[in-house]
Amino acid sequence: MTARRIDGKAAALALRQQVGAEVARFRAATGRAPGLAVVLVGEDPASSVYVRSKGKATREAGMESFEHKLPADTSQETLLALVDRLNADPTVDGILVQLPLPPQIDENIVITRIDPDKDVDGFSPVNAGRLAIGLPGFVACTPLGCLKLLEAELGDLSGKNAVVIGRSNIVGKPMALLLLSASCTVTIAHSRTRDLPEVVRGADIVVAAVGRPEMVKADWLKPGATVIDVGINRIEAGPGNSKLVGDVDFAGASEVAGAITPVPGGVGPMTIACLIRNTMVSAARRERFEIDPAL
Ligand code: NDP
Repeated sequence: MTARRIDGKAAALALRQQVGAEVARFRAATGRAPGLAVVLVGEDPASSVYVRSKGKATREAGMESFEHKLPADTSQETLLALVDRLNADPTVDGILVQLPLPPQIDENIVITRIDPDKDVDGFSPVNAGRLAIGLPGFVACTPLGCLKLLEAELGDLSGKNAVVIGRSNIVGKPMALLLLSASCTVTIAHSRTRDLPEVVRGADIVVAAVGRPEMVKADWLKPGATVIDVGINRIEAGPGNSKLVGDVDFAGASEVAGAITPVPGGVGPMTIACLIRNTMVSAARRERFEIDPAL
């Protein structure tokens, strides 16, 4: 069997266009654009790239992008004062503080300070709690993107056996909760899981969010399984060269799986598309504006 390649780039483009259409309707009705504020502390190269692409996607959808770049030695107090100003600013619908933060700043304190109704990254304890008990809130963008890819591929997920490898607060745990809400039977695996290959062999759906290059092998998979690879790992590819790979051995897994996301071009593009989707949803909630419920 050769697996279908799940095209995250195309799915993300379609979602971004859908958001763009909703933004146009929102602007016409309210006279303002939804606004996303992105805060970057320091000059971490990967974070700077992410912030630039988030700003670009926001503007392309017709939204306002407010970028706040602070020096690496910014105090926690100064950052919290900025978060307070953004919380109070009526032109800001979404606030994202790019992680990781420098060591003098406690990430949990900063994330908790963001107004949960503007926390479009879905990382705050309030939104994590809302997801856990099934209340509307904001769901972290990467797992939300994975769910959208799975639903587009498989339709109704109910009754499927899903194994999520990884239990981080930003990917693994929210992913497992989303799959549970979609009525899957969910197993969460992690570094202490015994006989991981055997656990994964029982899965109709595998979500790998580990951060270990090509760890999940072809013979771990049930034939026909749907595989979502969240991992982004840079590995050496010959002298002076490197390349990005996921947590799944893509070539091998493609011989066994029914469908699989590539890295790059799978989950990554969906993360940013879901961020602007969440910002549109936030603006709509704040202005009591009705948007397409399928967004
Ligand atoms: P974390 O490092 O926070 O979590 C990794 C998880 O993997 C942990 O729960 C850990 O278990 C588990 N793990 C580690 N080693 C093993 C192992 N040998 N067997 C089983 N489980 C293991 O990572 P994140 O969740 O933040 O990210 C995971 C990956 O996804 C990374 O490659 C990251 O770059 C990528 N990512 C991609 C995004 C995208 O947009 N595509 C967005 C966010 C992340 P334990 O808890 O026991 O330590």
